[in-house]
Amino acid sequence: MATRYDADRSELAELLAGEPRYRVDQLWRGLYERLASPEELTDLPRGLRDRVGEALPEALRAVVDSTSRSGDTRKWLWELHDGVRVETVLMLYPERATVCVSTQAGCAMACGFCATGQGGFERQLTTGEIVEQVVRAARHARPRRLSNVVFMGMGEPLANYDRTWAAVERLHGALGLSARHLTLSTVGIVPGIRRLATEALPVNLAVSLHAADDELRDELVPINRRYPLAELEAACRDYLAAKNRRLSFEWALIDGVNDRAGDAERLAALARRLRAHVNLIPLNPTAGYATRGTPAARVGAFRDLLRSLGANATVRQNRGTDIDAACGQLRADHEARVEISDRPPR
Ligand code: SAH
Repeated sequence: MATRYDADRSELAELLAGEPRYRVDQLWRGLYERLASPEELTDLPRGLRDRVGEALPEALRAVVDSTSRSGDTRKWLWELHDGVRVETVLMLYPERATVCVSTQAGCAMACGFCATGQGGFERQLTTGEIVEQVVRAARHARPRRLSNVVFMGMGEPLANYDRTWAAVERLHGALGLSARHLTLSTVGIVPGIRRLATEALPVNLAVSLHAADDELRDELVPINRRYPLAELEAACRDYLAAKNRRLSFEWALIDGVNDRAGDAERLAALARRLRAHVNLIPLNPTAGYATRGTPAARVGAFRDLLRSLGANATVRQNRGTDIDAACGQLRADHEARVEISDRPPR
């Protein structure tokens, strides 16, 4: 089923066959620049608005819409036409906003510490289902400008390459987002990274590293068995050479697992070789993983150690833990929330 933001310009033109040509532009700008629904486009004749609205239904129906206590993070649980559910997180800053979008319902990568991975794979999202998450968030961000999109929600973007890339191009071309404000995050699908390096748009690449030796990474990020670190590093180096965009590494600090001095040494060496920036995130609690995040004091010490070893590292500000909107907590299943009282103090 084609949904509102699945249709490209030529499909809109087909839908508007027989109408004056400028109608296509009007509709396109209405959907992407005014972020309006067809009913709101009162510069179009009534009959046309109705026809377009009917032919191109919205893809996302909000089932739960929660706002964090601090008011700066909002999460939607959407239901799609076939009953599948995904989540989107909007992070508000004083002048701008960032949205974190899902690219798949569920995920097949099976990282044990990630709530999405614990639930398994359901299906690929379509381009329109991805783009609409951004449009819906951009409406809610107003009057702020939605400036950044991170493909860090549910799913593995490079395991849904074509639809995700079509979404990137649509966000760039129709919503006017700059490629440098778009970030794809991957577990390290090497052929996907290599393909990304051949694309015209230089998006940011984030790699969910979490371990810098194969033995530990095989365990934490199972796809490492297929694409081990040496291959991942080579693909990252080639991406860097092709695009000259800064790479970043995500590292969820897990108490006693990947927060030892040796981990910092291996990570720092790799980050220096690739001039990558390290984003440290104390592991967020999920229902299916017993191990906890590294306590705050040792998170700071790990960061300092990385810096003393010559790597760029920052601790990522955690947002939305109280509504299970933080990294790794998206699972589209509000029954299985980890209780707030269960969390380490913030
Ligand atoms: N599949 C892609 C996109 C998801 S991004 C990827 O893995 O990069 C979500 C980020 O949150 C990833 O870096 C992931 O490793 C991280 N993450 C998963 N579970 C987490 C948890 N419990 N605490 C903190 N970060 C987590």
